[in-house]
Amino acid sequence: MTDCIIVGSGMAGISAALTLKANGKDFLLFGSSSLSEKIEKAEMIRNYPGLSSVTGKSFVSALQKQLKEMQIEIKEEKVAGVYAMKDSFSVMMQNQTVYQSRSVILACGVESVKQIDGEEAFVGRGVSYCATCDGFLYKNKKILVLCTTKRLEHEINYLADIAEKVYLIPMYKDVEINRINVEIIRKMPLKIEGGKRVEKVVFSAPPIENLGTELAVDGVFMLRDSVSPAILVGGLQTQDGHVVVDRAMATNLKGCFAAGDCTGRPYQYAKAVGEGNVAAHSVTQYLK
Ligand SMILES: Cc1cc2nc3c(=O)[nH]c(=O)nc-3n(C[C@H](O)[C@H](O)[C@H](O)COP(=O)(O)OP(=O)(O)OC[C@H]3O[C@@H](n4cnc5c(N)ncnc54)[C@H](O)[C@@H]3O)c2cc1C
Repeated sequence: MTDCIIVGSGMAGISAALTLKANGKDFLLFGSSSLSEKIEKAEMIRNYPGLSSVTGKSFVSALQKQLKEMQIEIKEEKVAGVYAMKDSFSVMMQNQTVYQSRSVILACGVESVKQIDGEEAFVGRGVSYCATCDGFLYKNKKILVLCTTKRLEHEINYLADIAEKVYLIPMYKDVEINRINVEIIRKMPLKIEGGKRVEKVVFSAPPIENLGTELAVDGVFMLRDSVSPAILVGGLQTQDGHVVVDRAMATNLKGCFAAGDCTGRPYQYAKAVGEGNVAAHSVTQYLK
């Protein structure tokens, strides 16, 4: 069992990791070796103290160098669920590995893509955020996949191996999926409808050529970099999509802290760094 698991390798997660390291704690940091698209894609950063202007790419390089010097490793695994036990947490990965931890820091950012009408209502009843966790449920079935980033194309291929038909809505350029059972749609759905489970996806007029305005599907996969924290962590208190925290960055779940964009606006690097630092000190206190 580790002292802490940090979910997310953006500024909030990195700041928390640097502080936990300085405080001599054992922890696992989950995210991406390229850190965060929200750092990488920044054209020019001008409001970070000490750096008068820096490109997102060079900021990523500087952070990677610092992590290496501090011997902090990022585990490139995606967290699928965080489960609060009596005095610890079970953290399940999309590849089904489970880690145990005494505390958790949620630093998973916010997804800028708006939820689809009906999405939350059908979670666990046909709406999924994880191809490797739920893909097997759709053997020889028809599914719709919304994918926000090219980095998750391997999950589309995984689903295409299982499902009979995949309707794909890619929200990025340079799609490199070339499968006979994958049909690309360039239109966002209006809503997801069904009874006990998902039955169809509805589009606005005019109809999509050969498909119309309603698509009968058995499931909908939302492949996004982040999912809503309330979906990730059962029983977590949120408001307007943000995690509710106090000044110590503690959530309503004992031992679970949150930092960065996921706790609310302003969405800024400096706020994420400050909150990550506070969350790590609170974890250190909590572990005592
Ligand atoms: C183009 C652009 C330019 C910007 N420019 C500026 C600027 O100039 N100045 C400024 O102050 N702010 C700027 N911002 C805002 C800033 O990027 C965010 O406020 C900041 O990145 C928030 O950091 P974070 O750590 O909270 O979240 P993020 O940077 O979003 O990091 C979240 C991390 O969590 C990971 N993650 C999510 N879910 C999981 C999971 N289930 N398992 C594992 N990992 C997961 C993600 O992959 C990501 O690595 C900009 C944003 C954008 C998009």
